[in-house]
Amino acid sequence: MDNKDKIIIKQRVNSNIDYNEQIHIPNFIQDHGLLLVLQEPDFDIIQVGSNTEKWLNIPPENLLEQNIECLLDSEQIDNIRQNLAGNFVYINPLKLSIKCGNEVRLFNGIIHRNNGVVILELEPCENESATDFSQFYQLTFPIINKIQKSANLYELCEIVVKEIRKITGFDRVMIYKFHADDSGEVIAEDKQEDQEAFLGLYYPAYDVPQVARAVFSVKFVRTIPNINSQIVELVPQFNPLTNEPLDLTFSVLRGVSRCHVKYLDNMGVMGSMSVSLVKEGKLWGLIACHHESTKYIPYHKRVVCEFLGQIMSIHIPMREQNDNLDNKVALKSVQAEVIKIISESEDLLNVIKNIGNKLLTIVGATGSVIFLEGEYHKVGKTPNDAEITELLNWVKNQMKTDIYSTDSLPIIYPPAQEFKDISGGLLVLEIAKLQEVYVLWFRPEVSQTVNWAGNPEYPIEIESDGKMTLCPRTSFEQWQEIVKFHSLPWQPYEIEGAQDFKTAIVGIVMRRISELAKINLELEQSNSELDSFTYIASHDLKEPLRGIHNYSTFLMEDYGEILNQDGREKLETLVRLTQRMEDLINALLYFSRLGRQELHKSPINLNELIENVSEVVKVSKPDISFEIRKMDNLPVIYGDKILLEQVFSNLINNAVKYNKKDDKIVEIGYEETEEAASIIYVKDNGIGIREKHQETIFKIFKRLHGQNKFGGGTGVGLTIVKKIIERHGGKIWLESKYGEGTTFYIKLWKQE
Ligand code: ADP
Repeated sequence: MDNKDKIIIKQRVNSNIDYNEQIHIPNFIQDHGLLLVLQEPDFDIIQVGSNTEKWLNIPPENLLEQNIECLLDSEQIDNIRQNLAGNFVYINPLKLSIKCGNEVRLFNGIIHRNNGVVILELEPCENESATDFSQFYQLTFPIINKIQKSANLYELCEIVVKEIRKITGFDRVMIYKFHADDSGEVIAEDKQEDQEAFLGLYYPAYDVPQVARAVFSVKFVRTIPNINSQIVELVPQFNPLTNEPLDLTFSVLRGVSRCHVKYLDNMGVMGSMSVSLVKEGKLWGLIACHHESTKYIPYHKRVVCEFLGQIMSIHIPMREQNDNLDNKVALKSVQAEVIKIISESEDLLNVIKNIGNKLLTIVGATGSVIFLEGEYHKVGKTPNDAEITELLNWVKNQMKTDIYSTDSLPIIYPPAQEFKDISGGLLVLEIAKLQEVYVLWFRPEVSQTVNWAGNPEYPIEIESDGKMTLCPRTSFEQWQEIVKFHSLPWQPYEIEGAQDFKTAIVGIVMRRISELAKINLELEQSNSELDSFTYIASHDLKEPLRGIHNYSTFLMEDYGEILNQDGREKLETLVRLTQRMEDLINALLYFSRLGRQELHKSPINLNELIENVSEVVKVSKPDISFEIRKMDNLPVIYGDKILLEQVFSNLINNAVKYNKKDDKIVEIGYEETEEAASIIYVKDNGIGIREKHQETIFKIFKRLHGQNKFGGGTGVGLTIVKKIIERHGGKIWLESKYGEGTTFYIKLWKQE
């Protein structure tokens, strides 16, 4: 099978493998130096590397249980002792001259304390020139200068690989960056021209096992001058104080694991060095240096490399931020527009209406859904309603904070495989948990091609005893993997965009709430003013009015004979006017109470209701002939019976009243809607209403005719009708043709 055609889902190879070879306690060291374990306070030698004879001409057993005085003079010992309280890093390396038989050999002494013992490692430094601070400064200062001037991560890495290669002379220097899934990517490389490039290649996560990462996080430089060097065991094998393997985490000579030696060998590397890059306390990557032949880097150069690694580590966060700066700037300007739209909008629905595709741009999505008051408001490409409902229910349980994001939705939520073209990635924002307001953003699946350095699938080797061990890859040939079910990752600044969106939206929701509170307060005030007005109207106005009415009536009865015709007519007008005024005041009182009156809702059979109302209208108009035609099967609606009787009584009365035809006909019927509502109509063949008046007739005291025409009226009827319908959450509107007739439509709900 051709690997290039192979499509797999990115996943861990086998979670049952032991990746935990204890690399910090290998029980042996490398051969390019020697190691002495000293017991405090006297510095007795309690454990040594077995290669002492090679470097000191002294067999290990002759050193054990001796005091360090047998190797170092008292000045050197004093120097060590004085620094025991502090950190040995600052005295390393100690320039030590040790008498080996007839000759004196020079060593770099590297000393540290770990787990209750002092470990002194000696590396020969015959050919090495002494380095002082000014040299260190001259070497590092220009590089630091360049690092500081680097504009982005790419430039920073380029500088570092070039400079480290210049200082050390390795064939190849690379920077590996670890991804979230622990795989490493070569993001910078400086190498010999004839070498194959590794730049852009991915290394499987197990190439640098977790235990190795843990050591790299605390010990920043690691050198392996020669992978084929002799394995130097420790004598005795275990630390005699603990009877356990000696912890070599911080040792410069720590022995190399069998797997790693094989790994480097398979790669054609003999000498190597790595420098840790740590961002915010976590291992971010490595500066990896390879050499095809053996390569020893003297201590002072290792210090320079470690120092540069640390300087680079400091700059990583800032340089990463600079990356995609253009994108970010563009994004910020859209985000600013969106925030402006939000700040100018009155409510969320308004925002949704005005925001359009910008909702997608702020996070770089291709589809989005705002879930508000049980409805989905969609922009761009989104799954269907049923899919969104299921997804939303699932994601609500995943959300630990108000934001959730994944770039591999179809893997963690398999139903999304059905709509992976729409959503390989998902970003969800919880705007208000209680009110259930959510924003979902979708990104399509992108099949990414990853160039692996070697096949990432097969690191396992079954040994003869049937044990499974993790073994290095033998092939480093480029191997392509197509990663399915992934979207492009959500960048931190995109997630920030979503969060800013929430902050702005929450602002508008809060503003709306405080505005509503203010309006409510004002309404309450005007309601109470209206209340006191109705009180005045009912008591203070109605009483004198009744007095005027009564006295006018008495005048008519007692003195009507004395008055002439003109006087009597004036008195009659006075009686009529007071009567009318009382009607108006009563209507006003009724209307003002209607807004606050509690509704007593129940299911109402409209057939019965209309029949009763028609009966009453007929009885009240014995002199007028008219016909009421009602559809047989009017629906059952949900409302306040007494108030709805009033609605239909008003409409039917008007339909008869504003009709000059001899055969006056009123038709009552209904239409169903898609929602749980019915539209009931009352149609007449009356005088009709001109278009310009069709709105105004609902205003209070608005009449289109003189007092004496069409039997008079207060102009309150339709105002009350509209108010009652609105209090039921319904709607009223009309169609009319002047001279032909009018149809009033009322939308009413069938359930709460
Ligand atoms: P009124 O008590 O005067 O009837 P309404 O509020 O019921 O007051 O009606 C307001 C005005 O609307 C009426 O004065 C009338 O001119 C007009 N109107 C109401 N219903 C109809 C109708 N079915 N046909 C024509 N005009 C109507």
